Formats: sequence, structure tokens, C-alpha cells
Amino acid sequence: MRRNNRRKEYIIIGLLLVIAGGFFAFNRYNSMKNADEITKIEVRYKDEVIKEIDFTVDGEYEIEVDLGHLHVEVKDGAYRVFDVDCPDKICEEVGWVKKGSEKLIVCLPNSIVLVQA
Ligand SMILES: [Zn+2]
Repeated sequence: MRRNNRRKEYIIIGLLLVIAGGFFAFNRYNSMKNADEITKIEVRYKDEVIKEIDFTVDGEYEIEVDLGHLHVEVKDGAYRVFDVDCPDKICEEVGWVKKGSEKLIVCLPNSIVLVQA
């Protein structure tokens, strides 16, 4: 009986590894997406898209977040966040992110991620 349980554990660990591997490969594929195919920036709040920003139009956007506001600026095929209400400002320190770049703007205190799509 004990032996059986251990075997089950191995199977579960094995399955998890396969899932993690698939997820990694998928992400890899996604990030290697041709820059020409990227048309927008998705602002995600806890994995839910709350705003889509057109990559081809320069502009500034204000988004309401948990701790106040977050501003996104799009210019010449790149984007950044600025004037963000968050304690650590790590999101602002990322600076400009170009189209096709693997750099990710994340604001953990506000549960916000900006994803190219
Ligand atoms: Zn932040």
C-alpha cells in the first residue's frame, strides 16, 4: 500500500513536469511572436484584460488600479508606465519596452501586468 502511494506521487510529479514544460514551450513560442504580428498592449489585472492599447497609435492612457492610477505612454512602437500609484515603483524602473521585446512591465502591488499581443 505504502509503495503504491509513492508510485502515485511520482506519477503526479511527472505530470506536473510535463505540464510545466508545455507551458514553458508555449510561452517561449508566444514571446518569439514576430514583432509585426503584435498590434496591441493588453493591460491585465489578475489575469483579466482590463484595457487594450493600440500599439500603432502614440498616446497616453490613464488606468484605474487598486492603489490609484497608472499611466501608460505609447510612442514610436514602444511603451512605458509612469506616474504610477504604487510603493515600490519597480514597474516604472523597467522604462521603455520595445515591440517584440521579452521585457515585461509588472506592477505587483496593483496586480497589473502589461502584455504584448
Ligand atoms: Zn508598480
